[in-house]
Amino acid sequence: MTEPTKGQALWRGATRRCARCGERKLFHRWVTMVERCPRCGHHYERGDGFWLGSIMINMAFTFATFLVVFVGGMVVTWPDTPWTALLILTLTLNLLFPILFHPFSRTLWVGMEMAARPLEPAEAIDAAAYGTGEWSIAGLESETPADG
Ligand SMILES: [Zn+2]
Repeated sequence: MTEPTKGQALWRGATRRCARCGERKLFHRWVTMVERCPRCGHHYERGDGFWLGSIMINMAFTFATFLVVFVGGMVVTWPDTPWTALLILTLTLNLLFPILFHPFSRTLWVGMEMAARPLEPAEAIDAAAYGTGEWSIAGLESETPADG
């Protein structure tokens, strides 16, 4: 099997799948992500502070959703905007949305990272040692020029 294109990595990430191989079973009880892909063996945390990117994505989507609901609610109900109801709705949304979006923010970040920074040969060798065997380093070696 070959490494994904940038578009594949991003799409798989956006749809809560492994950016590298498309595996779907990456979470336990919605929020707990596996350390490695059970299929291709990819180790998701690619360095210290890796998950800060997914936190930023989650915050940005939460804020965008809040803005759309708040401004949309104001526009639709103006001039008799039910402020208390709008406040309760947006507060509830701001509490629940980050939890519901958490797995998507994680896999999306993995996809964005992989699109921007393809696997190093050492990472592919490491993944192959843990994967199911469908993935080997041979595919990567033939595509990636060795640069030391
Ligand atoms: Zn995978």
